[in-house]
Amino acid sequence: MKPKDIFMKSLFREQVPRPATGSATSVVTVDLMDKAGFFFPEAHLDAEKMAGLAAAGYTEIGFDNVMPLFSVWHESAAIGCKVDWGEKGRMPDSRDHIYKIDDEIRIPPNFLLKEECQVPLKALKLLKKRYGDDIAIIGKAFGPWTLGYHVFGVEEFLINTILKPDAVKRAMQRLKEVTVSFATAQVEAGADTLCYADHATRDLCSPDTYRDFLQELHQEMSEKLPCPLILHICGDTSDRLQYIRETGMACFHFDSKVPTKTARELAGDKLSLMGGTSNFDVIRKGTPEIIIEDVKEKYEYNIDIIGPECAVPLDAPYINMKLLTEGVKKLKNGN
Ligand SMILES: [Zn+2]
Repeated sequence: MKPKDIFMKSLFREQVPRPATGSATSVVTVDLMDKAGFFFPEAHLDAEKMAGLAAAGYTEIGFDNVMPLFSVWHESAAIGCKVDWGEKGRMPDSRDHIYKIDDEIRIPPNFLLKEECQVPLKALKLLKKRYGDDIAIIGKAFGPWTLGYHVFGVEEFLINTILKPDAVKRAMQRLKEVTVSFATAQVEAGADTLCYADHATRDLCSPDTYRDFLQELHQEMSEKLPCPLILHICGDTSDRLQYIRETGMACFHFDSKVPTKTARELAGDKLSLMGGTSNFDVIRKGTPEIIIEDVKEKYEYNIDIIGPECAVPLDAPYINMKLLTEGVKKLKNGN
């Protein structure tokens, strides 16, 4: 079976000869940039370089998918956030918040045509053309909760979930248009599936807040967007996995703060699981023995797509991810 089929079938927990291996978030490290010959920050803003660097996730590491949107900022930059695109060893960031909660959000009607959106769309097209028959091509779009952090600032956004919940809901309805347009354009450009990311992590969003502000929206997105979705939420999500499994999302990309066994129990039989491998203890610091133990644990609890829990730290050695993918492929024969 082709890696692409293994990956796509794993999203739906269908029968596969081995678990898939991959990630819905960035797998780029500084040493992977050196190996591929494409570097940050250029790879965020040049489609050829972006596609070249993303491809290394398959050609050098051996994952069953590629995902070219390395940062969290493309659509936010296109709607007006001023972004510092970082350096080779530093991810992009922005601290310039453009709205207060009562402001009317003005989404530029042509935001998809801006470079910040066009570059990943072109990169997805290139990846689809070059690798689309063999591996899964994944895009990434942020939900209105994370876009709210970006345009209002985390503090202004979160305090108003308590002070002015209606204003927050109104803003999220407006920002949802950005999510839907960018996600749909990525599918049209060739994405087989999308990472749908919302930073509704426990320290920033209680389980009740998840239920009141996000569960219905995640349900709507999984029905509305034209491809299966991989929901990514960092941190300990064990207190909201019961809500997530009701959203209709195909897959949940989980953090190692949720023990693997717990994640499988809470996700039930239908929701597929990706990730759960610690970026710090396994990907960054892991010995070959630690890595293979981690793969065995993921096998034991039927994790469908084995790979890092979230964007890999830039200073991690990419060879550890290669050991992980090799481990997944070797273990299928039980040795
Ligand atoms: Zn994350």
